[in-house]
Amino acid sequence: MNALKFYLSTSKYVMQANFADRDSWSELYRYLPYLRQALSCCVCRNIVKNPMGPSHKVCQHFVCKECVEKPMTIKPQCSWCKKRESFEESTQLRMVVSCFKKICEYVMSSPIGTDLQEQAHNGETNSLVTILEEGVDFEDDYQSPPVIPNYNAFPGSNIHSRATSRIRNRFKGQTYEK
Ligand SMILES: [Zn+2]
Ligand SMILES: [Zn+2]
Repeated sequence: MNALKFYLSTSKYVMQANFADRDSWSELYRYLPYLRQALSCCVCRNIVKNPMGPSHKVCQHFVCKECVEKPMTIKPQCSWCKKRESFEESTQLRMVVSCFKKICEYVMSSPIGTDLQEQAHNGETNSLVTILEEGVDFEDDYQSPPVIPNYNAFPGSNIHSRATSRIRNRFKGQTYEK
């Protein structure tokens, strides 16, 4: 399971959700549990904290840094994950986890969250509320690297200057007739 893929799909369905139309929330409801599942620690089953995984990334199994020496709870056991000492930290997954938290906060504060909480309040068991609350409550001291805008780093950022020089070149050597 690829957490990043599930994250991208879930974000898409969050964006597409029309608050006035419950039917438009169904894909979000379907994908949120997949995303949560993809972010599970293979030892403690909680949202993976300081994720570590095999460097080959073949199996997409991750464990919390704290859980790295404990036995995995996945069955059957994964042959790709045998060498736990070669596990390395996954900054990418850690970022996906912090984005998942953001999605949960957003959905919970939207009419979708209000609706789900009302259902839960009326005694209906709602695993989505559990997932969202877990996401909102998730704490990580992850600090994303400071963003220093460097416009030259983005491909296409020189579009403006390219266009300007193209226009300049077009008129180069031309004399205007009066
Ligand atoms: Zn864990
Ligand atoms: Zn594995």
